[in-house]
Amino acid sequence: MPQTDLYAVFGSPIKHSKSPFIHRQFAQQTQQNIDYHAQLVDAENFDTAVENFFQQGGKGLNCTVPLKELAWQRADQLSARAEMSKAVNTLVLQRDGSLLGDNTDGIGLVTDLTQNHAIPLAGKKLLILGAGGATRGILLPLQSKNVLDITIANRTVNKALNLADEFKSNGKITGCGFDDLQNQQFDLILNATSASLSNQLPPLPENILKPGAVCYDLAYANEDTPFVQWGKQHQASKSLDGLGMLVEQAAAAFFIWRGIQPETFHVISALHHVT
Ligand code: NDP
Repeated sequence: MPQTDLYAVFGSPIKHSKSPFIHRQFAQQTQQNIDYHAQLVDAENFDTAVENFFQQGGKGLNCTVPLKELAWQRADQLSARAEMSKAVNTLVLQRDGSLLGDNTDGIGLVTDLTQNHAIPLAGKKLLILGAGGATRGILLPLQSKNVLDITIANRTVNKALNLADEFKSNGKITGCGFDDLQNQQFDLILNATSASLSNQLPPLPENILKPGAVCYDLAYANEDTPFVQWGKQHQASKSLDGLGMLVEQAAAAFFIWRGIQPETFHVISALHHVT
């Protein structure tokens, strides 16, 4: 009887996580013998839960809100993209028993944009709303696609300025507040604030979209998020939510763990139908 390898996602809240569904679909499709479950773990219990999980034979972990920074601290080694993002969403047990930390959020976003939606990034002017953990995770993968420049706008302006400063050696990048966006136009606006989670919308000037511009909300919901609605109302050529990014970041984690790239199209479609 082949051994079942154990994987999980830790977070709080975690009840509504779609990750078990996604990874079970990947496992079925690629005939991998794995068990993947969601476990409620808060920041205070994180280190103990990680030790227990790997002592009990765990092979890999996903970490979500509010644990990504703690996972970054816990990892024994870090991939380059995780190192810069200061956040880890994927832990991998190494042969020597150490834990490698990676961050697949950015590559998940880039894959969803460029492969699933055929949105080119090279030479484009990007605006990222928000300067939290998600923005940290996506900056380097976006910069590596030869974008023209990136503007980060945040409610707390200092956080945007600091982040821009930290990533300026990888490409042209500026930080600002929402008020500084007047008279500017962008090809792609990424909403990486958590405003959608409370049904809110960051303040945006009316004429901020270039002709043909795309809006993309990292958040996802059963209905259009306020930002996806805003994009549609303002004639964005596409106005998308982050469900595809969720599935693609999971596919990248699955590849790291199992060495097999799962097919994502049908999993994204299935999620659109079950949500
Ligand atoms: P953080 O808590 O780290 O950061 C939240 C950011 O949102 C901060 O910049 C904060 O600004 C800003 N913000 C919060 N509320 C508002 C508001 N009402 N108006 C304007 N700005 C606001 O969150 P994360 O970076 O971890 O996550 C951000 C979003 O990305 C979430 O919606 C999350 O679900 C999504 N996400 C999606 C993924 C996917 O796979 N699709 C993966 C990772 C994240 P300030 O600094 O001023 O507080």
